[in-house]
Amino acid sequence: MKNVAIIGGGLGGIASAIRFKARGYDVAIYERLNELGGRAQKFSKDGYLHDAGPTVITAPYLFNELFSLLGEDINNYVTFQPLDPWYRFYFNDGTEFDYGPDREKMLERIDQISPKDVDGYIKMLKRAEVIFELGYEKLASEPFNKIYKMLRYGPDIIRLGGYKSVYGFVSKYLEHPNLRQAFSIQPLLVGGNPFTTSSIYALIHALEQKWGISFVMGGTNHLILELRKLMERHDIKIHLKHDVDEFITNKNSIQSVKFLNGKEIKADIVVSNADPIQVNTEFLKNSKISWHNQILKRYAKHSMGLFVLFFGSKKQYKNVAHHTIWMGPRYKELLEDIFDKHHLADDFSIYLHRPTATDSSFAPAGHDSYYALVPVPNLKGNYNWNEIKEAFSEKILASLDKTIMPGILTNAVSKFCMTPLDFKNDYRTPYGSGFSIAPILTQSAWFRTHNQDDKYKNLYYVGAGTHPGAGIPGVLNSAKVVDNIIHS
Ligand SMILES: Cc1cc2nc3c(=O)[nH]c(=O)nc-3n(C[C@H](O)[C@H](O)[C@H](O)COP(=O)(O)OP(=O)(O)OC[C@H]3O[C@@H](n4cnc5c(N)ncnc54)[C@H](O)[C@@H]3O)c2cc1C
Repeated sequence: MKNVAIIGGGLGGIASAIRFKARGYDVAIYERLNELGGRAQKFSKDGYLHDAGPTVITAPYLFNELFSLLGEDINNYVTFQPLDPWYRFYFNDGTEFDYGPDREKMLERIDQISPKDVDGYIKMLKRAEVIFELGYEKLASEPFNKIYKMLRYGPDIIRLGGYKSVYGFVSKYLEHPNLRQAFSIQPLLVGGNPFTTSSIYALIHALEQKWGISFVMGGTNHLILELRKLMERHDIKIHLKHDVDEFITNKNSIQSVKFLNGKEIKADIVVSNADPIQVNTEFLKNSKISWHNQILKRYAKHSMGLFVLFFGSKKQYKNVAHHTIWMGPRYKELLEDIFDKHHLADDFSIYLHRPTATDSSFAPAGHDSYYALVPVPNLKGNYNWNEIKEAFSEKILASLDKTIMPGILTNAVSKFCMTPLDFKNDYRTPYGSGFSIAPILTQSAWFRTHNQDDKYKNLYYVGAGTHPGAGIPGVLNSAKVVDNIIHS
């Protein structure tokens, strides 16, 4: 029986561990933190619970697959609660827009905002569905480690306008600036600027329409706990507090993995769920790396940083939907500041998570639990986050207080935050970026880190930094890609 060492216990690593186990391998996960989950950790403070990261579940079938691969039924352990609305937008002009599963209701609202955009929306959705068929159904689990795959699918990607941006795509169909914003923000959910991310990512819109948006009762971290129990039941070994120091290589394979705690292990197959740029900079510090990875290491554009403010509220704000997007005064210019200039502007936009809208277990009775996520420059912007984080947190609360959450400045309790510095220190992500490298066309598919290393043939990559990319559906599919490379 071959043995597999999975480095990193984020969702990419977990999915890969389960897929290898289902194929009959001896599998062990090595994770540097005290718990599994990576960005899907959980925090608990003063009776308030918080998922640390992902909360929007768009393709629950991918989790069902993992349980059934090991002969179990996810429904015995996890409840996916469909949400309505999916997102509530608050625009800077004071208007609102609910985006959700009731198509008629949404079209009526679009009609109120901009009558001519009703037809445009229907046409846009049709086109997004065509893009979804290629970009998700065909290519998300297709290995792109060989250039011929790019040559084979490249013309289709061009034909579908993949060289255009998501914002360009949306603007072709919709005229109202608020609707253009609402329907183009999706790349931000996977670390991209809507003005530079390939319009192939318009597939996210079709993905939401196909499977809706759900919330895991108990939080995404409940899913991690159930995945952990599933793995333990099926003899996948889990080693926490194992921080990789180095991969020891011979000519074209990884011979062993050395950890900072002094341990060294050998494995037939090594799967890295750690950020590929970290692997090629730190783990392979004394070894040669492929030219493809050298280019990425030197020139990659990293996704934006995230500032996440966690807080409880003594008062419930029932007008705040489970997923709320609070748009600031600027859009394109703000994104340029964040992504291109690495400049922390005075203004910002906020994604507000209110799990207590769906699950009261997240806070004491009559209270709310929140996180406010603000896209900010990654650590290429030279800011001392430890110095500025308190003031920045207050600015976020003040903006909410003035608009949709009057009184939150005094009602907010148990505040703490994560800055790009924490992303760097906790997940060891280069430049503390929220989502690994950005999903621009020249960093997608074959151009991204290949799922099988070009030089070390027993080294594979899963997770946000490799194909197909960030976001839960992406990282779960990356484990399928590795499975496909080895087993088909
Ligand atoms: C705040 C936030 C909100 C998000 N919201 C959503 C959402 O609603 N829906 C959605 O689909 N996606 C969302 N995402 C994106 C999604 O969470 C990520 O793309 C996904 O969880 C990444 O999984 P991963 O396995 O690639 O990486 P990670 O979760 O980062 O896991 C990598 C693991 O590797 C470990 N590791 C790193 N270095 C080492 C080392 N040297 N030795 C051992 N272990 C190591 C890390 O500790 C970590 O546990 C969100 C992300 C963030 C940050």
